Amino acid sequence: MADNKPLPPGSTIGMLGGGQLGRMTALAAANLGYRVHVFCPDRDNPTAQVSSAATVAAYEDETALARFAGMVDVVTYEFENVPDVTARLLAARVPVRPGPEALRVAQDRIVEKDFVNKCGVRTAAWRQVDGVAELDTAVAALGRPAVLKSTRLGYDGKGQVKIDASTDLAEAWKRMGSRHGILEGFVDFACEISVIVARGADGAMAPYPAVENRHVNHILDTTIAPAALSKAQASEAEGIARALARALDLVGLLAIEMFLTRGGEILVNELAPRPHNSGHWTMDACRTSQFEQFVRAVAGLPLGAIDRHADAVMKNLIGAEVETWPAIVAEPGAKLHLYGKAEARPGRKMGHVNRLYPLGEAPRG
Ligand code: AMP
Repeated sequence: MADNKPLPPGSTIGMLGGGQLGRMTALAAANLGYRVHVFCPDRDNPTAQVSSAATVAAYEDETALARFAGMVDVVTYEFENVPDVTARLLAARVPVRPGPEALRVAQDRIVEKDFVNKCGVRTAAWRQVDGVAELDTAVAALGRPAVLKSTRLGYDGKGQVKIDASTDLAEAWKRMGSRHGILEGFVDFACEISVIVARGADGAMAPYPAVENRHVNHILDTTIAPAALSKAQASEAEGIARALARALDLVGLLAIEMFLTRGGEILVNELAPRPHNSGHWTMDACRTSQFEQFVRAVAGLPLGAIDRHADAVMKNLIGAEVETWPAIVAEPGAKLHLYGKAEARPGRKMGHVNRLYPLGEAPRG
């Protein structure tokens, strides 16, 4: 696949990871005439259920990776913790989009924060901490409360410990569970927002409007699209997304989670170089969904128009919440998306529902 040449219909997109993000990408890819070949260690994963081919193997299985690379025209991924060896082995044989730089930055919270700050974008104050003694110094510098996070492999609040007035630091270090940590000043935010920007192989960019994200138990529960921001704040959030995607020379999607502080400042929390849960509302409220846009970028097609034809509230169906599906599917206008997961374990994302509202009328209660 030459760098700027569109992938012709009938080509195969290789997908690392078999979760719901891969599944919804595969469905969008099929609409554009592409096949998806998923690579995932789990049999009967949500992506494999809707893909034309599946490899079930460990991400470090070099023989399986080489065979997979020979059967696909481009490789992408639906999670950013792709092992280094996997990305390197594949990139030597087939285009990987987004490229290795996006992975390197998004896999490590220290590298990520440093990258964001070097782009002139603010984050919470932070310190690298690799032991209890350093934690002690960092807490003295940043004050309490603060948040201690593992630098790698943390998501949905895992590997995260809040340090407040009475927290014992040795205990907090143990609970965090990694040898490498980052201490962040606690952000007293008014709300959490995110922007997803698509960037094509030709450098064209299309940012979706900033949305508001509400979490329960550290897991995204509800997204309200768009966020209730001033014009200046909305354009600042969009500008940050564009600047970071350009600096990464990213081809695909970049999701940026941010805090809006009570003082009206925007601070970046986290980056994800892939489709994002906070973009699921676009499936029913925008002319081009984040999944179609992702496929377009990865396949070297022009980006689609992203106009929003409705406001939306996306509610995740977590664990047993999925059992409410009969009521949702009977609700006129509610758009139900289920992920084909057999077992509704607590905290597991089983599906989501999008509810649409006239422009300017999303409920925010
Ligand atoms: P993360 O894994 O970094 O996305 O963090 C998960 C959630 O923890 C965020 O969505 C916030 O609700 C909260 N959180 C993370 N970092 C901070 C911080 N520095 N200050 C306040 N809340 C935070």
